[in-house]
Amino acid sequence: MTDLEWQQFARCKNIGADTFYPPDNEEMGTRLRRERAAKQICGPCVVRMQCRMHALLAAERYGVWGGLTESERRRVKRPYRFEPDLAATTVGATEGSGR
Ligand code: SF4
Repeated sequence: MTDLEWQQFARCKNIGADTFYPPDNEEMGTRLRRERAAKQICGPCVVRMQCRMHALLAAERYGVWGGLTESERRRVKRPYRFEPDLAATTVGATEGSGR
């Protein structure tokens, strides 16, 4: 199976993209309802995890992927980002502590 063959099993493949992607200037209430509808489609999708991982690894910026909205994906990714300043601080803090 190639990297994107999972898409043939996508529950959304015959559903319009407008359920998953926001139009310009979408109002918050409309966005929440659209995202809730998309998540209900994603919930039982058999390739949800592959879809989610693809979106995270490819840094997909827009739309609902694998049941995660744009803002949810940003929060998931944050702990895995390499932050050199933070790493340097952490190394410095443990130096000389005997560990
Ligand atoms: S998880 Fe959602 S967006 Fe991803 S393939 Fe399935 S239905 Fe489509």
